[in-house]
Amino acid sequence: MTNAWDDEFKCPYCGADLVSAAYNKHSDVLLVGEFPGEEEVQQGIAFCGAMSRILKQEMAVLGLDMKSFRCTNLWLHTPNKNPECFKMGVEQVLKEAKDKRIIFLLGSDTVKYFTGKNVSDVSGLRVKSPLLSAPVILASQNPAVVFHGTVGEIRHSLKIFKSEIEAN
Ligand SMILES: [Zn+2]
Repeated sequence: MTNAWDDEFKCPYCGADLVSAAYNKHSDVLLVGEFPGEEEVQQGIAFCGAMSRILKQEMAVLGLDMKSFRCTNLWLHTPNKNPECFKMGVEQVLKEAKDKRIIFLLGSDTVKYFTGKNVSDVSGLRVKSPLLSAPVILASQNPAVVFHGTVGEIRHSLKIFKSEIEAN
């Protein structure tokens, strides 16, 4: 558990509270989101805010438990202009990605950084990343697109995600 007042969980570059990886440490499946939202920052836990509630709910429909996977974000705090802060998040993803079987990249910034592609071109598809060595890497829109009325694409991506989990 992280505490906002614990120095160990402050960014060494800008002093912001850090939100590091959450949930099942032993899972061979990693979900990578874009950046922690307000609730995540407050609680110091990744994947606990509005976007994650959508994701959790949509996964539950398919019989998947979001918390059974490992979850982290491209940014460990609210994005800023400091390249060192960004690098710290990337390093965390690379560390968490080690030995993973399936990596699920969520959101345009995450997909763009790891694959060089636009999420609209690869959402729901297997992708390749020069930075990640997992046998299966999937791309998806940020589940928050549901708030703009486009739930179909997320459901499609999650079905592909589920079939990859069951196929391996
Ligand atoms: Zn920082």
